[in-house]
Amino acid sequence: MRSFSVTTDRRAQFVDITAQVRRAVADSGVRSGVCCVYVPHTTAGLTINENADPDVVVDILAHLEKLVPRSAKFRHAEGNSDAHIKASMMGFGTNVIVEDGALALGRWQCIYFCEFDGPRRRTVCVQVMEAK
Ligand code: ZN
Repeated sequence: MRSFSVTTDRRAQFVDITAQVRRAVADSGVRSGVCCVYVPHTTAGLTINENADPDVVVDILAHLEKLVPRSAKFRHAEGNSDAHIKASMMGFGTNVIVEDGALALGRWQCIYFCEFDGPRRRTVCVQVMEAK
């Protein structure tokens, strides 16, 4: 397993981690297989979406806030239930096919680390498995 850190500077923020994941795939030497990306946190997640128009991320974050407002009434005493819920909505991992040593992402896709309770220093884990 490989891992790298992501430092966020806002409470809610998407960070494009595609370059770091591509580096992990290159370092693995795997030409054909599956790249598993995983976030070992409870208030941050991962998603794949568009990186061409930055307004897509702005809209996703704004709509998640509408769906799960930070100010809603929750039981969890830490006061960050909205972040736990948003992280679960995004999920904590994603898999991308590796072909010819490269991530088989679509032209407009990138891999986003999704912070919902920042700013913090976070960890992203990457495991690249070879297809036989
Ligand atoms: Zn909490």
